[in-house]
Amino acid sequence: MDDLAQARWRAVEARDERLTGVFVYAVRSTGVYCRPGCGARRPLRRNVEFFATPAEAMGAGYRACRRCCPERDRVSDPAVAAVIAVCRWLEHPDPDRDLAAMAAGLGWSERHLRRRFSEVVGVPVGSYLRAQQAERVRAALRAGMPVTDAAFEAGYGSSRAFYEHGATRLGMTPARYRSGGAGVRIGYTAMVTPIGVVAAASTARGVCAVRVGPDEAALVAEIAAEFPEALVERDDDGLGDLAAVLAGAVRGDDDATVLPVDLQGTAFQVRVWEALRAIPAGQTRSYAEVAAGIGAPRAVRAVAGACAANPAALVVPCHRVVRQDGSLGGYRWGIATKQALLGVEAASRIP
Ligand SMILES: [Zn+2]
Repeated sequence: MDDLAQARWRAVEARDERLTGVFVYAVRSTGVYCRPGCGARRPLRRNVEFFATPAEAMGAGYRACRRCCPERDRVSDPAVAAVIAVCRWLEHPDPDRDLAAMAAGLGWSERHLRRRFSEVVGVPVGSYLRAQQAERVRAALRAGMPVTDAAFEAGYGSSRAFYEHGATRLGMTPARYRSGGAGVRIGYTAMVTPIGVVAAASTARGVCAVRVGPDEAALVAEIAAEFPEALVERDDDGLGDLAAVLAGAVRGDDDATVLPVDLQGTAFQVRVWEALRAIPAGQTRSYAEVAAGIGAPRAVRAVAGACAANPAALVVPCHRVVRQDGSLGGYRWGIATKQALLGVEAASRIP
C-alpha cells in the first residue's frame, strides 16, 4: 500500500471528520461510497477503494451513502478548504497556477500551505502528486493505451521518469497474443553487461522477454522464435529508458521490477511471477515461501517450474528465490549469474 492510501485508511479507521471533502472511500462489497467520517460500520481494508472526489467514485459505479451524504459539500474549515483546492489542482495541474500563488491568495507562505497540506492529507504535496500520476497511468493502461502514451498523458516527462516511481508496479496483462504474437509489434534491444549480454523485448504495454547469455544473436533468435507471428524489430532508441533500468539493475542501482510487463503464461505462472515481483531487492524467498504466499503451500514444485519458465529475467526476479536451506537452487541463466545478481543487490541500497 502506498503512503497516501495508508494515510487515507488511517483517517477512515479514525472516522476523521476533518477530512470531509479531501477524499471519499468506496466499499466494493456494498457498492457505496462514504466520506471519511461516516458513522457506518467500518469496512474491511481489502474491500476499500479510495477516490479523490465523489464524481470519480460515481464514475467507477459507486452510489452515495445515505447516512453521510458524501456528495454534499460540507467543508466549513477554511484551512481544509484551501488544502482541498490544492488537491484538486494537483489532480489536474493547471500550468498557469502554482503553489506559491495559491498560498499568496490565502495570505499564507508557500511553506505554511505545504505544512497544512501534509497535516490534513497525511502525505506531502510531492507524494500526493506522484500517487495521482500513477493512478492516471493505471487508468489509461486499463483503457488500453500504450505505456509511453499513458506516461506522457499522466504528466511524466519521460517513460524513464515514470519507471523510476515505484508506485507504478503494474499488474500483468493476460496473454493477448497466444497465437505467437499475430499483429503485435515487438521491439527489442540488447546490451553488454557484467553478467553477459542482456536482450530485452517489449510490446507497447510492457516487457515481454528479457534474456541473459553470452551470444546476442542467439538471444535475439530465441525471442523471435517465441513470437513467430509478431513483427519483431530492433528499437534501441524506443527502448532506451528500459535498457537504462535493466543496466542499472545489473549493477544494483535500479530494481527492474518497476518496469511494466506484458507476459504470457498460465494463470498459475502469472501468479508466481507477480509474487516474485513483490520480493524486495536485497531479499530472497524460498520456493516454499513463495508457494505459501500465493495460497498454494503444496505447490512448491510447480513454483520452481514457474521460476524456471520465467521469460523475463530481472523484471521478474526469479533470482531472488533460493532453496529452503539457503543454497541457490537453479537459475535459467546460470548459477554464476544468479549469484552475481544477489551479490550486487545485497550490497546496494535500492530504495
Ligand atoms: Zn457513509
